[in-house]
Amino acid sequence: SHLPSRQRVCILGSTGSIGTSTLDVIALHPQRYEVFALAARERVEPLLEQCLRWRPRYAVMVEARAARDLRQRLREAGSPTEVLEGAAALDEIASHPEVDAVMAAIVGAAGLSPCLAAARAGKRLLLANKEALVVGGGYFMAAVREGAAQLLPIDSEHSAIFQCLPDDPATWKRRIARIVLTASGGPFRQRPPESLRHVTPDEACAHPNWVMGRKISVDSATMMNKALEVIEARWLFDLAPEQIEVVIHPQSIVHSMVVCHDNSVLAQLGTPDMRVPIAYGLAWPERIESGSEALDFSRLAALSFEAPDRARFPGLWLAWETLRGPEGSTAVLNAANEEAVAAFLGGTIRFDQIHTVNAHTLDAVAGRLDAGSVTSLEALLELDATARRHARDFLRTRLAAS
Ligand code: NAD
Ligand code: MG
Repeated sequence: SHLPSRQRVCILGSTGSIGTSTLDVIALHPQRYEVFALAARERVEPLLEQCLRWRPRYAVMVEARAARDLRQRLREAGSPTEVLEGAAALDEIASHPEVDAVMAAIVGAAGLSPCLAAARAGKRLLLANKEALVVGGGYFMAAVREGAAQLLPIDSEHSAIFQCLPDDPATWKRRIARIVLTASGGPFRQRPPESLRHVTPDEACAHPNWVMGRKISVDSATMMNKALEVIEARWLFDLAPEQIEVVIHPQSIVHSMVVCHDNSVLAQLGTPDMRVPIAYGLAWPERIESGSEALDFSRLAALSFEAPDRARFPGLWLAWETLRGPEGSTAVLNAANEEAVAAFLGGTIRFDQIHTVNAHTLDAVAGRLDAGSVTSLEALLELDATARRHARDFLRTRLAAS
């Protein structure tokens, strides 16, 4: 039995880093939130445990064999949860009439379709899955407007910007001159660029301030994560590319800043803990306990800032380049990067070659885009597939051997 006032939450990517942090926040507020649906790709064990604990109405495993396994094990345990399978089931639970809020915490472009489904169904859409917005761009934002959905950023930088702004987006233009996204600089901030040829996946995933999934960890090491965040910010806050700046701030205490037209700067600070933006997204416009530790100013040694180095982080500049390029360029960049990171994690290419793959794929695919060609989900997915094919061909034929 549930109280009618409880928000019913659907978590896409519930077994990942953001997904489990979301459940941690929900666990602090049983009177406010109810877990309605959980979804993950293929790992049965963690989703089984979550289902037994949270007893959601639905659980989705994208992989069919994993879904059968989960269904069987839940039945044996006498669980009431119904198991759905396949990618289409993600759209179904994200737009289910009884769902109030959708946490989009799948990694990669695979999250685009369920995000669009949630947007069109007018949900409160908590967006951690930045790749979905980088691929969807203006098309994604139009779906949010058409569905009158509430799009709330979960990425800590975008949550920071959002927290620095008034609730009414109509006032933002008059207030924002530019925004400054902070970046930790990742594990290789001080490594000589030449030495980046030899770094291993585990070194790249050892982030100094955050524990995250492997894909975003590699993106943080190349600063492609920040490039994706520049693109994300362009859409979330309707900014021109030149209104978005990036600064390295190794302590990850200032989560981002808004520079107003009078040069006053507003910042949001806190310990680096994703439960803060997650709690804010869940409760907005209210504030609830997040389970995070408070910032202790007496123990903060220093807050420092520096400009990112182009030789070390060439991928960062692709953000502004693709935003100024034809529509769809950011989708191409994202697809290339997903393939390149997977190849690096799989041991096929070197760390420094991630950028080579991205730059090459942009030249080959984005250079040939027509204006106005991305007007449907199908067109976006086709572009995504084309870019992936180019990236894979390139890294197989030109890089894997070198
Ligand atoms: P993760 O790898 O820890 O978890 C990914 C989740 O998505 C898992 O539950 C996995 O089963 C699921 N998944 C993966 N591929 C899928 C597919 N094709 N279909 C359905 N489900 C799939 O990743 P994460 O670190 O939690 O990141 C999730 C998203 O949040 C990413 O877009 C990331 O950029 C963003 N994000 C993460 C953090 C962080 O601190 N981890 C911070 C900001 C933004
Ligand atoms: Mg971020």
